[in-house]
Amino acid sequence: MTEVFKRHPRNENGVWQINNSSLDLIQTCQRKAQYTFQNPEIETGSRATAFGSAIHKAMEVYYMTPRPARSAELMKAAFDKAAAESSIKLPQDGEARSVKSGHIILDAYHQTYGDDSFEIYADKDGPFVERSFSMPISPTITFYGQIDLVLRNTFSGNLYVFDHKTTSSLSGFADRVSPNHQITGYIWALRQQGIDVRSAILQGMKVTKFARSVPEFMRVEAWRTDEQIEEWLEWVQFTTGVWSAANESKVFPMNGSKNCTLYGGCKFKDVCTAPRHMRSDLLAMLANTGMEIEE
Ligand code: SF4
Repeated sequence: MTEVFKRHPRNENGVWQINNSSLDLIQTCQRKAQYTFQNPEIETGSRATAFGSAIHKAMEVYYMTPRPARSAELMKAAFDKAAAESSIKLPQDGEARSVKSGHIILDAYHQTYGDDSFEIYADKDGPFVERSFSMPISPTITFYGQIDLVLRNTFSGNLYVFDHKTTSSLSGFADRVSPNHQITGYIWALRQQGIDVRSAILQGMKVTKFARSVPEFMRVEAWRTDEQIEEWLEWVQFTTGVWSAANESKVFPMNGSKNCTLYGGCKFKDVCTAPRHMRSDLLAMLANTGMEIEE
């Protein structure tokens, strides 16, 4: 079934509605962005996304529960439910992103963080879980997105955007805090709403088959200064301008070819390499083969 691609930027009455993933993709390669946005049936997600979403659901349930009642079982039940409801099925076993490895991670998470002092932040709109926002950045740009989790430290009262990331390696994970446009955008959006977040916490979780290893975790904190937020605003405005100009001129240029081979290679490589008159047929073929794109 064709669904509107969640990252699809759109122009409504002269105002671009755009989110972080779209901006990121536009900067990666405008051609790739065009193929992705204009062929939503090609986007079917990926197993990594389905696994990460199930872990997010487990975390929501965990931090919604008062600390003494938290358990790994609660998380595993939420993980299983999310995995069962996902259109992309996870294998039970034998792969890094399987139901079994998810359970191993969640058991270890409870052992490691069972006594941590975070709880879900709640305001007049209820618990801060999977909350969408849409905020004007300029008269012609509205930035939208969804923040999965805002947690409150029960001792200090400080608020944090929490982002749980599953990754095959924690090496270099701490470097992900900055620059990190997603985090900066979330902090900006929360502060615009009057929610005084201190910083973001990136929670890294190493995912493997766990045949000869045990789960590993890493928590890193990401602060943002006013200057960093200003530079992020420049990034949003510039990149949206690039996309707007590409749409006006109907020219979606290829970017540096390094992006064609990164992370196992761009899935549109064969399309880009083919003569122009064959490309729409190739895109249709990709749509019919349930292609996944890398995240
Ligand atoms: S193959 Fe390269 S040029 Fe073509 S869409 Fe992908 S990243 Fe862009």
